[in-house]
Amino acid sequence: MSEDRQKRFGRSACVKCGTCQTVCPVFSVLPEEASAARGKLALAEAVEQGYLDESDAYREYLEKCLLCGACEEACPSEVQTLSTMLDARKRMAGNVGIRPAKRLILEQVVGDSRLLDLALRTGRTFQNLLFKRVPADSGIRRRVPLPLITPDRTLPGLAKTFFTDRFSGQVATGKGPRVGIFAGCMTNYLYPGTGEKMIGLLTREGVSVFVPSEQVCCGMPALVGGASETARELACKNLEAFEKYGLDAVVTGCASCGGNLKENYRELLLEAGIEEKRTESFLSKILDINEFLHRIRKVDAVREPEKREDGDLPILTVTYHHPCHLGRLQGVKDEPIALIRSLPRVRYVPMGDNERCCGMGGSFSLEHYDISKEVNDQKIARILESGADAVVTSCPACIMHIRDGLIRNGRGDIKVLHMAELLERYSLEEEGEGGEPRYGRMGVRG
Ligand code: SF4
Ligand code: SF4
Repeated sequence: MSEDRQKRFGRSACVKCGTCQTVCPVFSVLPEEASAARGKLALAEAVEQGYLDESDAYREYLEKCLLCGACEEACPSEVQTLSTMLDARKRMAGNVGIRPAKRLILEQVVGDSRLLDLALRTGRTFQNLLFKRVPADSGIRRRVPLPLITPDRTLPGLAKTFFTDRFSGQVATGKGPRVGIFAGCMTNYLYPGTGEKMIGLLTREGVSVFVPSEQVCCGMPALVGGASETARELACKNLEAFEKYGLDAVVTGCASCGGNLKENYRELLLEAGIEEKRTESFLSKILDINEFLHRIRKVDAVREPEKREDGDLPILTVTYHHPCHLGRLQGVKDEPIALIRSLPRVRYVPMGDNERCCGMGGSFSLEHYDISKEVNDQKIARILESGADAVVTSCPACIMHIRDGLIRNGRGDIKVLHMAELLERYSLEEEGEGGEPRYGRMGVRG
């Protein structure tokens, strides 16, 4: 048995201890053996050894997973549960194919940036017919029956102006490093304000900011859906889109995109025939916005500045939710907390279980909203216990799901903010008009 295979399936690796069950959000809602990693690994091994067919039931168990990585982090035997489950999906896609509707979406729409763009522009035109606004402009709910969208789910509407329509090419000039923004689909189409806040933050640090208009979906939906060829094509397009600007850093505000770029692009780009040197050069530049700002601002992780109640802005009490793909996957846990704690008019209160998944899991929340909602309710309970006025996080998908959960639980009054929004507003207040950027003043254009 190869070392890799032993690591994945060997008895010496998975000791069947069941620790993964104790941390699995899906198992907490659906306590069946196949819900947690131990059961999924056993099924994948049975398929690989020829004892089990890759049936629809097997597919459903494999896909009933948030890919949150809690099992891998907790496993005492260091079994690589995530890559094993992704490999099993990939094998199944190769052997029995992806469901036709899903294949169409992943390969023809997600894989073709022009078609995706056209589909979302068309959707924007008709969204008022299909969806209604919910109070306080906190989102939209369906008016008419739509597949995969339940009537009680609050979603963000498609933005009036997409991020890359408003910003593209060089959008700020400064004396500091050359930084490209990888927006990701959610920031581009749903939350362009987050991208705008990122530009504001980066600009005030005096860096030159670029938004390559040729950037496409990071490919995460295709990869986890088993459409590996599409994921490889998208990875190559993004490499080409960013490398022509001669950047020092590629910064993203989306935990899932960042996790995918850092964790999966090496294999995808090498498989696609991109030279190792070129691949490594691109990968070495990828940073989450929290990492970039933490480095450039040289924030002291321990310092808890004296809070000031004076001035126009009252103290805001915030708690922080760690997105799985930022905290667990990228190891970026201390930086956001340190950045929050460095803001004089913001009080940080910890949240219980702040690393537990919010229940979103990409398309999981569409296909299994019943489970996703229950996992989300556990997160909402922890947010309410913290007593915070606002919950801050660093992933647009978590923002969407937590906001939906708060509204569903009658607490739409609690703000859900991206870190870029919090930092942009409260750093500005801290610096005041005279705040000097690190690399001198610079210009911005929209
Ligand atoms: S925690 Fe690890 S060793 Fe224990 S059952 Fe789960 S995968 Fe196997
Ligand atoms: S990745 Fe998360 S949801 Fe999936 S099996 Fe592991 S703990 Fe459960």
